[in-house]
Order: sequence, then structure tokens, then C-alpha cells
Amino acid sequence: MKIGVISDVHGNWQALEAVIADLGSVDMVICLGDTVGYGGNPELCCEEGIRAGWSTVLGNHDQACLDLNVLSWFNERAARSVRITKERLEPRHLDWLRGLPERAQAEGALLVHASPRHPLHEYIFDLPTAAANLAEAGPRICFFGHTHLPGVFQREDAGQLTYTYRKGKVRLRTPALVNPGSVGQPRDGDPTASYLVWEPDSGSVDFRRVNYDREAAKQAILEAGMPPSFASRLDLGR
Ligand code: ZN
Repeated sequence: MKIGVISDVHGNWQALEAVIADLGSVDMVICLGDTVGYGGNPELCCEEGIRAGWSTVLGNHDQACLDLNVLSWFNERAARSVRITKERLEPRHLDWLRGLPERAQAEGALLVHASPRHPLHEYIFDLPTAAANLAEAGPRICFFGHTHLPGVFQREDAGQLTYTYRKGKVRLRTPALVNPGSVGQPRDGDPTASYLVWEPDSGSVDFRRVNYDREAAKQAILEAGMPPSFASRLDLGR
């Protein structure tokens, strides 16, 4: 069985289209939230999520579109992008987002946007935070997003917790925290779209990067009236 794992699409339709083409034939697609926000075509990204029937969880940007009261968590430019995003979405897109759970499961793995203990608001950047969340998740694989940094937290034979920044195929040890990186707004200095393919039977993940039409994505951001920095950062992958 092959499962595509994507996260943080952030309204970047051009990146999502390229990832879908690169994925080829998979048995299912998991989406770890933040389907909208920052990008110029959130409506097309929601449409694809609905059409394809991804197993999707709620992200903090998705939630903000549903409840503008949580915008106090956002900086001013991100809040502006949420307001513009909300205007572009049709009622059925908002209904779809409203129906998304904060936690879900697939093939025995836990799915969250940010972290097992705080599904919408915690960044897992360091080993202590990862250790606490591994304990919370229990003995299973957990896929998460939110940091936009692809990689794996897991224990070595001696029990020592390590972090592996994305690199091709990685054999997973249970438990593990696995982040596919961001489709629509990578922040690891590589501007290509990031995602992974998980093979539960062999217990491995394959981190992948895909080029996409960044000029069109930047144009869509500017045309939507989003802050111009959201366009220029796509070239930097930051
Ligand atoms: Zn995000």
C-alpha cells in the first residue's frame, strides 16, 4: 500500500497540481491541514480536497477562516491573508473545512496538523518538544505538519531520540513523528514543493521534492491582494 502524505498546501494550487502529478498512483492521500492561507487559490485547493476525498485534518489557518476570533494568534499579514482567503471560499468550501477533525487516524497512524498534544498550535522543532509529543501519541507513527520542515523524530537502538532532516527514503521505527514538509510554502530554503509517500507495509517513507510553476503561484497571490512578501518568499523557500 502506498499513501501520499501532504501538508500545508496553503492555497498554492500550482504546487498542489505538480505534487498530484508527481504522486502518480497511490492508494490514498493524507492531508495534514492548512489547506488554505497565504496562497492565491484556496478555493481550488479545497475543491481538490473535496473531490479527491483526502483524509484531512484541520490546520490553524483553516480554523481561522471559520472563526475570525482566533486571528489574535496571527501576525498582521497572516491575518490579512486569512480575511482574503475567507472571501474567496464558497459556503461549501467552508462547510468542508468546518467538518475536519483536529485528530484523525489512517492505517494505525495518528494525523495532526501541529502536534499530538496541541493539534492546532504547537511547533515541534526540538528534541524535548518531540519527546513530550511522542509520549502523548503513544506507540504509533504520527504524521504532523505546521513547521513546514520535512523530517523524522525517532529513537535509535539505544533509545536516544534523533532528528533526521528529510532525505529520500527513511525506514521508520515506531513510535515516530514524521513531517512531510509543506506543499505550498516550503521553509527549509528549498523552494520546491515538499511531500512524502508512506508505505505502511515496509514501514518506510520517501521524502520527495517537486518543481512547480512558481511564477503563476506568485501572480495568483498578488492578484488576490495578498501581502507581496507571500509571493516573494516562494522563491526563497523561507
Ligand atoms: Zn502552515
